[in-house]
Amino acid sequence: MRLILLGSPGSGKGTQAKLLSQRLGLVHIGTGDILREAVRQGTPAGRQAEIYITSGKLVPDTLVNDIIAERFQGDDRPECFVMDGYPRTLAQAASFDAVLRKQFLDLDAVIFIRVDDEKVVARLSGRWVCPVCKTPYHLLSNPPRKPGVCDLSHGPLIQRSDDREETVRERLRVYHENTAALVVHYRQQGLLREVSGEGGIEEVYGRIVQELNHHKNA
Ligand code: AMP
Repeated sequence: MRLILLGSPGSGKGTQAKLLSQRLGLVHIGTGDILREAVRQGTPAGRQAEIYITSGKLVPDTLVNDIIAERFQGDDRPECFVMDGYPRTLAQAASFDAVLRKQFLDLDAVIFIRVDDEKVVARLSGRWVCPVCKTPYHLLSNPPRKPGVCDLSHGPLIQRSDDREETVRERLRVYHENTAALVVHYRQQGLLREVSGEGGIEEVYGRIVQELNHHKNA
């Protein structure tokens, strides 16, 4: 299975990508995680990306397109994957289409997870993540067993600097500016499936699987 998840920041696409990856055996490719790791390691790409990430802007298309093209070139290139946070612009979608064509890989579906903007702001302000295993938590809907500590790695949880409210609002503005075109692009390819991102994690996961099965059987 080859999937792209589309959705605003805080729509739960990272959480759903992680579940899909674990349960369907897909490689999880999250450009936000890749870029944050590059910033942490101080690589050239990370140094270039940092200012954009902290201000809630998108990093330049060429930078992420190169990261993804490279990921799909090596011997360990993924056959089955779930994309989380890429593509995010029409230029990235065009570049990704070309990368996949070159590898003779067809997408199965693009899942568009819809959540109301105000709910996103509320969600993100309670979001914490484990810097080691990337497991996401939410203070209200999915708290860790011990406050501030990851259930799996047992290390301290951190809050992302771009989860501050004004940065979240800027990320939402940037998201809306770019997504409309992406939705049209994948609808035209007959790949777009829409699901509501409201409700619990398993509820949303169930909707995604239902959409995937529905289409497979159609
Ligand atoms: P995310 O974790 O997906 O919300 O991404 C966090 C930040 O990383 C974004 O606000 C952007 O600054 C940057 N980023 C992640 N993926 C992309 C992408 N595909 N294109 C441009 N910027 C990205």
